[in-house]
Amino acid sequence: MQQQELSSKIKQLKKEKNAIILGHYYQRAEIQDLSDYIGDSLALAQQAAQATADIIVFCGVHFMAETAKILNPSRKVLIPDMQASCSLAESCDAEELAKFKSQHPDHIVISYINCSAAVKAQSDIICTSGNAEKIVASLPAEQKIIFAPDRNLGSVINKLTGRNMLLWDGTCYVHNDMQASMVQQLKQLYPEAKVIAHPECNPELLNEADFIGSTKAMLNYVKQNTCSQYIVATESGIIHQMQKENPNKQFITFADLRNCACDDCKYMKLNTLEKLYNCLETESSEIIMSPQMIESARKPIEKMLEISKKLGIIR
Ligand code: SF4
Repeated sequence: MQQQELSSKIKQLKKEKNAIILGHYYQRAEIQDLSDYIGDSLALAQQAAQATADIIVFCGVHFMAETAKILNPSRKVLIPDMQASCSLAESCDAEELAKFKSQHPDHIVISYINCSAAVKAQSDIICTSGNAEKIVASLPAEQKIIFAPDRNLGSVINKLTGRNMLLWDGTCYVHNDMQASMVQQLKQLYPEAKVIAHPECNPELLNEADFIGSTKAMLNYVKQNTCSQYIVATESGIIHQMQKENPNKQFITFADLRNCACDDCKYMKLNTLEKLYNCLETESSEIIMSPQMIESARKPIEKMLEISKKLGIIR
């Protein structure tokens, strides 16, 4: 089936089945264009919680679809490819985290949303890259914290808040493998360009950045900034929205330097238009979770939403 035919069949199925499509900024452009809502983890979690459609098709990775199910358990939550995992989520095993917690009984656990439901269930508060700094800063200074699973984001937050959180040793392979030397080469080719980077990048790369922020914060920065060129250190899918919102600006990626797909997340890109169509037609693969797991994983997410509302990060 051609892309256009697939797209119109997906739209038709969506209507017939009263479904909505939530799409992450790292999805393929054609999936972003078909999504009812495009966003980062926090925005999509909020959309999932409010959804009244019978079916939520989550075009992202597995932990995100799980989060949608946790927040709206009465809905059928589908994911186009059940294998769409995440190196960061995989780097933190719930049993190992439980063991680590027992060695530090005076610490609470703040987990980045990029983790499994089982790890969420072991956590006190969930955060995203967009709200992590404010959430950590809102806690009493004497509160001891374990931060999981992203050590790069954790160390950025330690620096920004002056904390000394214990960091789980996990990384996102896409962001962690981006090298500072590549930024330096790109800077030589584009000396006027601003470097914008996601906090999941390694500390050496972040030292080269003019701006560090979540995907949403990067989009806002580019919109408000007057510079016409940007070196973008994050997953390539974001370029689609950046270019749409800023048609006269130029976005340079690591893949441009190497002529490769090194900034594509292999998990995010598992979802294709064809799989999205099959997923809607057959209503699979469905996210199934036990009510106990939903209940335990929901509490720290609700805590995040509650703190975010209190701090005015979301309404
Ligand atoms: S980009 Fe990184 S953090 Fe995001 S889904 Fe892929 S591996 Fe996980």
